[in-house]
Amino acid sequence: MPDLAGKHGLIVGVANKRSIAWAIAQAASNAGARLALTYQGERLAENVTELAATIGALVRPCDVTDDRQIADVAAAIEGEFGGLDFLVHGAAFALKADLDNPFVQTTREGFRIAMDVSAYSLIALTRAAVPLMERRGGGSVVTLTYLGSQRVFTNYNVMGVAKAALEASVRYLASDLGPQNIRVNAVSAGPIKTLAAAGIKDFSSIRSAYPERAPLRRNVEVDEVADAALFLLSPQSRGVTGEIVFVDAGYHVTGV
Ligand code: NAP
Repeated sequence: MPDLAGKHGLIVGVANKRSIAWAIAQAASNAGARLALTYQGERLAENVTELAATIGALVRPCDVTDDRQIADVAAAIEGEFGGLDFLVHGAAFALKADLDNPFVQTTREGFRIAMDVSAYSLIALTRAAVPLMERRGGGSVVTLTYLGSQRVFTNYNVMGVAKAALEASVRYLASDLGPQNIRVNAVSAGPIKTLAAAGIKDFSSIRSAYPERAPLRRNVEVDEVADAALFLLSPQSRGVTGEIVFVDAGYHVTGV
């Protein structure tokens, strides 16, 4: 079990108890880390505050499209923790129409929103975390992605393009920040029933393909994704950066 005792982490992307980011928060807390969680907008404030209380985490609002709110979160972390050892990025969003209509109908505004929330936000949050991580002599950033970045999954559409940009950003950030001993990696998770997944039309048909075709003949559980993230956050992965780690029961290796 990775040990995160004495470490401080920021976790972005908890909406409710089904969120992958929440599973990672619980795993990191169990491993001894002290955490800050963020929520987007008042709609989620009560829910996330209740969850945060169960693990003694700090809670702050943060819409990842707002640089002011990102700066406020960084300032709060500096005040409370003095520095930061890890960042988990689990924010993603696309307009419903862009997940329903044929991909060729993707709107300019829908493309911009999906890229801003789901890809650019990793760059913005990492930039804010860098000075806090430098105080600790380095750090670990982990984001969440999906195989739709490389292969076509029906209705995943613009989110697949955003995930491709996210994964490329992982590599460029890893290259930029390696000299400061800041590592940047992604976990590519198999399909898991969450709020974000519910927005993808016929998501259940993607999920039902995995038990038929994945080498492990099943879907993955959220705690399996959290365990892989925990490894990437911990010193046990100190030689790993710029990597996309698949936790998808092996589905990504299958052909016909
Ligand atoms: P989730 O619980 O709905 O988490 C997505 C989070 O992104 C929510 O907390 C959402 O908040 C947040 N978000 C959206 N727009 C935001 C903004 N402007 N500022 C801040 N936060 C914002 O769903 P999830 O499945 O756990 O998703 C977490 C990550 O895992 C995502 O990157 C997703 O693409 C990725 N992933 C999911 C699966 C899967 O099958 N579920 C598979 C592979 C990868 P709101 O609810 O307020 O929008």
